[in-house]
Amino acid sequence: MEIFDRLESEVRSYCRSFPTVFTSALGYHLVDEAGRRYIDFFSGAGTLNYGHNHPDIKRELVDYLQGDGVLHSLDMATAAKRRFLEFFESLILAPRRLDYKVQFCGPTGTNAVEAALKLARKATGRTNVVYFSRSYHGMTLGALAVTANAKKRSGAGVPLAFTVAVPYENDLGPEVDGLVYLEGLLADSAGGVDLPAAVIVETVQAEGGVHSASWSWLRRLDQLVRRFGVLLIVDDIQVGCGRTGPFFSFEPAGILPDLVTLSKSISGIGLPMSLLLIRPQLDVWSPGEHTGTFRGNNLAFVAGAAALSLFWRDDALSREVERKAALLEAWAEELLHSHPAARGELRGRGLIQGISFPSPGLAAQLARAAFDRGLIIETAGRADEVLKILPPLIIDEAGLKAGLERLEDCLRSLGCEAVELGRGAG
Ligand code: PMP
Repeated sequence: MEIFDRLESEVRSYCRSFPTVFTSALGYHLVDEAGRRYIDFFSGAGTLNYGHNHPDIKRELVDYLQGDGVLHSLDMATAAKRRFLEFFESLILAPRRLDYKVQFCGPTGTNAVEAALKLARKATGRTNVVYFSRSYHGMTLGALAVTANAKKRSGAGVPLAFTVAVPYENDLGPEVDGLVYLEGLLADSAGGVDLPAAVIVETVQAEGGVHSASWSWLRRLDQLVRRFGVLLIVDDIQVGCGRTGPFFSFEPAGILPDLVTLSKSISGIGLPMSLLLIRPQLDVWSPGEHTGTFRGNNLAFVAGAAALSLFWRDDALSREVERKAALLEAWAEELLHSHPAARGELRGRGLIQGISFPSPGLAAQLARAAFDRGLIIETAGRADEVLKILPPLIIDEAGLKAGLERLEDCLRSLGCEAVELGRGAG
């Protein structure tokens, strides 16, 4: 790790959690330079829904490179971009009767969030944006201003202004209803808050510790903002593209967000790409108003189009996610049941599941022990108290099982013995 420690900035983070040098990856496995194989329960934080180096997607990339396909094109029209848009329209938007314009943003998720915030403010002529406790929307200043975590916010170095935080569903317990509070802010002329441009929400707070909003809460939120002419932004960057089952995580709620951010798995194979979906009436940008050099990553268009064509011609992937999620939930519940000393609690939706541990530091210790046993898994939540299980959606049952067996091994190694052994650490 010498050159990384010596030359790379102190800001580096994941390489500290997973201290090895990775060389190759396929499906749900990563391999390091010592030849060790790791099961990937992290999936690039939701970027590798279709696994590492999917052979059919890779073949299209190789062919495109071999044919000297245009790689960089700013936002000029290319055949690769056209193909992506055609698939996105015919396989994603049309079957769901969604009428959105597509804005290609700079390559990171946070850039799509910036675009959403700017556009919501421009379209409404208002400044405030409401966000939720525990939210995560990115690291640039606009996105950071709607990100809840104090440590992340403190990195800004300037005041993060023109945003208002409201408690997410159940964050302060069942007695405190954040939406009643929000309604108060919006409806009360003495509520003390200028009418916001938008509310930004994650249907499942992934970085926040795997907390899912109920469909009824999302519907109430949707109805509330509509009553006041406030726009609804759904950030589907981590849990879109089938992570929870449907392509968009909000589909089962039956809501129609005004703006939707997508990134991570939209490029199919881990290449940088992000986009903003815009209700057509809100597309009030003037040309070049939110520009950027890398809004036309043609390799990402090629891979993204291949992924849409491979996985979204029918609902087979969604049904597979549901099936595997049910298995994962059952096996994880069984694991927690047989290791009561860990006091782990499972929650999640589809193939994003979190295990919350009340004992401080236990989740991080488990993630570290998991790495030592060949399992890549991340922590999440306010105090990193949650182990976030986020395998590629294409993982098979054997992979899910093997990953959980490694976790069980970790629980045992940290003193959370199985009940049959009768030596729970408490
Ligand atoms: N929104 C959500 C919900 C995310 O999970 C993330 C990344 N973890 C982002 C925005 C920011 O994306 P990026 O890291 O690509 O800027």
